[in-house]
Amino acid sequence: MELWYTEKQTPNAGLTCTVKKTLLRCQTKYQELAVVDTFQFGRMLVLDGMVQTTAMDEFVYHEMIVHVPMFTHPSPRNVVVIGGGDGGTVREICKYPSVERVVLVEIDAQVVEAARRFLPELSYCLDDPRVEIHYTDGIEYIHSLDEFCDLIIVDSTEPVGPAIGLFDAPFYRAVFKALKKDGILVAQTESPFYNAELIRSVFPRIKGAFPAAYLYLASVPTYPSGLWSFTMGSKRYDPLSPQGTFSPGNTRYYRPEVHRASFVLPRFVQELIE
Ligand code: SAM
Repeated sequence: MELWYTEKQTPNAGLTCTVKKTLLRCQTKYQELAVVDTFQFGRMLVLDGMVQTTAMDEFVYHEMIVHVPMFTHPSPRNVVVIGGGDGGTVREICKYPSVERVVLVEIDAQVVEAARRFLPELSYCLDDPRVEIHYTDGIEYIHSLDEFCDLIIVDSTEPVGPAIGLFDAPFYRAVFKALKKDGILVAQTESPFYNAELIRSVFPRIKGAFPAAYLYLASVPTYPSGLWSFTMGSKRYDPLSPQGTFSPGNTRYYRPEVHRASFVLPRFVQELIE
């Protein structure tokens, strides 16, 4: 008998795939946590029924949320990741020799435990000596940050539950204050097809907190609609004139040409941010 997992991405559409085995399913203090082994996408981390990352396509999302800002900045040393409990974002940051400190601020320790146990190819850099993990709310953490940082990456779940406040103007203003005078924010900002209204409201909040804001895109097959957006707030540097000198060689999606192309927006997406 075939077993299928379905994520309802809207009330009327979703992603469905055959399942080899459910490796973990539990209720944490914050969400329902599952790790499912699938034939098409490999192992998949699912929170509250929503696909967070899969072995098959995680490289796209993690390379694009990290290397675009890391190559835009001349020499990022101090990076904060909010969310990101699967470890994929931290893995990509640790590729940079210039990085001295990575702080992962993940509210749910059980997500990190599950990633260490079932997704070692994503989580292995969580043991890098430069990495610190704080199991706390990213919103509170940002307000209490005592050392300015070069880059803050918001690798959060959808704007539900504890993540809602990570998409609000006060949070972006707090991020601005937590960044150095040439710091950069990048946040995952969902799908232009399914979450147009979110992008329409979040982009101006980031643009209102920073001198400049940019939206860029990547194709992530297992995310709703397959087209995903990231929004950058930058205090000084223009991502289309990247200042970085180190471009990680071992990437499978990110290349300097893809960096530039990701900011070329289809008209319907450009209209969301005008
Ligand atoms: N790449 C995924 C995406 O784009 O949807 C996100 C992956 S990561 C697993 C998302 C993490 O954000 C979850 O582990 C969740 O616990 C965490 N999270 C949600 N709200 C948070 C908050 N306020 N502070 C810290 N972590 C939070």
